[in-house]
Amino acid sequence: MVIIMKVGATQQEVDHVIERIQASGLQAHLVQGEERVIIGAIGDTKVARPDNFNLLPAVDRVMPISRPYKLASREFNPYDTRVVVNGIQIGGPGITLMAGPCSVESREQLLETALAVKEAGAQILRGGAYKPRTSPYAFQGMGEAGLELLAEVREITGMPVITEVMTPEQLPIVEKYADILQIGARNMQNFALLHAAGSSPLPVLLKRGLSATIDELLMSAEHILAYGNPQVILCERGIRTFETTTRNTTDINAIPVLKSLSHLPVILDPSHSTGHWEYVSAVARAGIAAGADGLIVEVHRAPDEALSDGNQSLKPERFGEMVRQVRAIAEVLGRGASQAVSAPSPISLPVEA
Ligand code: PEP
Ligand code: MN
Repeated sequence: MVIIMKVGATQQEVDHVIERIQASGLQAHLVQGEERVIIGAIGDTKVARPDNFNLLPAVDRVMPISRPYKLASREFNPYDTRVVVNGIQIGGPGITLMAGPCSVESREQLLETALAVKEAGAQILRGGAYKPRTSPYAFQGMGEAGLELLAEVREITGMPVITEVMTPEQLPIVEKYADILQIGARNMQNFALLHAAGSSPLPVLLKRGLSATIDELLMSAEHILAYGNPQVILCERGIRTFETTTRNTTDINAIPVLKSLSHLPVILDPSHSTGHWEYVSAVARAGIAAGADGLIVEVHRAPDEALSDGNQSLKPERFGEMVRQVRAIAEVLGRGASQAVSAPSPISLPVEA
C-alpha cells in the first residue's frame, strides 16, 4: 500500500510512519515529491491494515496498490522517475539518445564511432563487451579489454557508457567501467542477475525479453527495485511474433502502456526491434512520437564489417539524419534534447531498517 502524507508533514511524522511500517515487517520506500512525501509499504501487506496508518494525523490517505508490481507502478509513485548519469537525464522532459556499435571490436572502431555519434547528437555511448550470442561459434565480445576501451573512449569523448552484464559474477568487473548496466532481453528473467543489479549503485537499463509480456517486464523491474536500486530504465526492443520479415516486431503499444503503468523511463531500441538498418529510422521516429523517453541505436562505421548485428547498424551519416528527424518530432511534442541537471527528481528510495 502507499501512504500519502499531508502537505507539510514533519520529518518526525514521516519517521513515525516508517517505524510503523518496519515494525509490521514491511519494507518502507520513500518518494520525496515536490509537494509531499509518499511512503510505500512493501511486502506481505496482510499483516498491516490501512487503519494502522489512516488514523495518524499527518497521513492524508492510504491506498492499496492493485498491481502485482508495486515499486514499479505509477500507483506507488505518480512522479516520473528521472535517472541522472553524469548530468544527463533519462526520463525528464527531453529525449535521450544512446548510440554506438553492437560490440566493441577495436580501439579505432569504437573511438571513430563514438566521435561520429557524439557529433550527430548522441549523449550516451553504447557498446557490448560481453555478448549474448545465439551461436557459441560467433564473436562473444572482447570481455574486459572491451570494457577498458569503453572507459578510455569515455575519457576522450566525455560520453557516459552503457554496456551489458550477463551474469552476477561479471557484475563487479562491469561496474568498474560502466556508467549504466544493460540487462539484455535473454536475461530479463535471470533473477539472480536482477538481484545483483538491485544492489548496484549504477542505473540499470532492463530490456524486454524476447517473448515477455509487459507485466513480466514490470515484474522483472520490480526485482531490481525491491533489492534497493531505484534507477531502472525500461527498454522495448521488439518481441517474437509470427512475422519473419523483420527480426522482431516493435511493440509500439508498449511505450504508452509502460508510461501509463509505470513511472520509470522508457527507451526504444529500433535496431533489435527491426533487425534491418533500412527500417530503423522510421521505427525510431514512431517511438519518439509514441512518447518514448529516448532511443538506443546501433551505429557502425562499416556495417558490412561488423562482428555482430551489422544488418541493423546505421552508418554514422544515416544516424545523423535520424537524429534530425526524431528531434523535430520531439519538438512538436514539446520535448527538446535532454538538458544537463545536477540533481535527480523524485525517485523512490528504500529506507534502511
Ligand atoms: C544488444 O543490445 O546488442 C543486445 C544483445 O540486445 P538484446 O538483449 O535486446 O537482444
Ligand atoms: Mn546488438
